[in-house]
Amino acid sequence: MTNLLEVSNLHVEFYAKKKTINALRGVSFSLGKEEVLAIVGESGSGKSVTAKSILKLLPPQNAKIVDGSILYKETELTQLSKKEMVKYRGKKIAMVFQDPMTSLNPTMRIGEQIAEGLIVHDKLPKKEVWEKVHRMLKLVGIPEPEYNSRKYPHELSGGMRQRVGIAMALICEPSILIADEPTTALDVSIQAQIIELLKELQPKLNMSIILITHDLGIVANMADRILVMYAGEIVESGTVNEIFYKSRHPYTWGLLQSIPDVDSKKPLKGIDGSPPDLSQLTKGCSFAARCPYVLDVCEEEKPTSFIIDKGHHASCWLNDERAPMVESPLTFKNKEKKIM
Ligand code: ATP
Ligand code: MG
Repeated sequence: MTNLLEVSNLHVEFYAKKKTINALRGVSFSLGKEEVLAIVGESGSGKSVTAKSILKLLPPQNAKIVDGSILYKETELTQLSKKEMVKYRGKKIAMVFQDPMTSLNPTMRIGEQIAEGLIVHDKLPKKEVWEKVHRMLKLVGIPEPEYNSRKYPHELSGGMRQRVGIAMALICEPSILIADEPTTALDVSIQAQIIELLKELQPKLNMSIILITHDLGIVANMADRILVMYAGEIVESGTVNEIFYKSRHPYTWGLLQSIPDVDSKKPLKGIDGSPPDLSQLTKGCSFAARCPYVLDVCEEEKPTSFIIDKGHHASCWLNDERAPMVESPLTFKNKEKKIM
């Protein structure tokens, strides 16, 4: 698989009230052509900051990429000026946001909003623009495109608005779509429809997708690979099967145990404790304070990224040959669950 995007050793800092917040600390990953990559992790783990870094959407007044590289094909995105980035954002790499109501303009008809991308980037003649807009509306499941394209965002349901958000992102046929919690603001039944839509569109449009979510449950049927983030780092990465069935990081085990199980009435088991203060990181593993399997070394030394298998990495000392043998507490349960 050829890589479209190559993120290496990305460090992002925020500056607030005389404090430096180390929001990303050495994030590295690649995205292949037509690959669906999921980024999961609790709130504050750095998922959105990763997405915003790629698209140069970090607030310039208090955030900075202090180290690392983001390569899109042959272009180093971190080096581009605001003006140069316009050629990439929306056109090559597009984004769908959590709440379509905030990304849509309430005073503009949805068709016009979708058309904007084409007018800015492609400078197509009017007739062609509208044909394309109507085709795109149909593709994202909005019926009667000619009629509905004249509606304003508030005239549509939440699910339909998110379909418009997706149409807006896809109108210029980007090669990468970044969807940051695209279903969180929607009802559960609609959430599944939107994920299904993205899954359907991905091969039709030959695009790669970065799907950001804190719910591992929704990525099982959609992603090829998963990155698990904690406190600004990728702590485990692997294929969906590796993460669900062969995970080697206690944080991932905790996330897997947090997936709502519709069949059983058992209460959800979250991860005890909360993430560390990113402005006061100490030595050792950043998950040590919450880890049920913590070893002495975890408090002293940051774990290296252990290679579990080709493409499957986990930053946890339990994978060191000197560590005691600890099995995942949920391998069996998830194998029975038949998620694939
Ligand atoms: P969520 O699931 O809640 O969306 P996330 O994983 O997307 O969480 P990010 O938005 O990437 O989290 O934030 C990562 C960290 O970066 C936060 O914990 C916070 O410390 C810091 N951060 C993000 N945005 C800002 C900001 N505007 N000012 C200061 N710090 C910020
Ligand atoms: Mg976020």
